[in-house]
Amino acid sequence: MKKMIYSAHDVSPMKCLICGKPVKLLYDEDVDQNKKSTPPSSMWDDGVVDDISVGYGSKYDGDILLIAICDDCIDKKLKDNSIIMSDNYMESYYIESEQNKYNKWLHDRIKKRKLEEKLKRILK
Ligand SMILES: [Zn+2]
Repeated sequence: MKKMIYSAHDVSPMKCLICGKPVKLLYDEDVDQNKKSTPPSSMWDDGVVDDISVGYGSKYDGDILLIAICDDCIDKKLKDNSIIMSDNYMESYYIESEQNKYNKWLHDRIKKRKLEEKLKRILK
């Protein structure tokens, strides 16, 4: 059964899908702020709440499920490989990747060449 979710405050606390422990909004007293933000974009205390988009092959194909997992269960499930750490979105904010450095270098080089060509045309 589908339930339209408008804000994190509407669903807090969520239950950890593994152990059932409550996963609450980090600042539950800040009702006005949490009324505006969706569950995935909110801050949750010692856990994660996020959407999972279900793909073809599942009887839930096309559905979006909102789930919660507490940090203790993430710790345990990372150890037994039930959960796999595939990336860290914070790192890309703070660490300039080699690809970004290359793209910047390429962009600067193209810009420089265009300026040189423009200058040649002007000086002719
Ligand atoms: Zn748990």
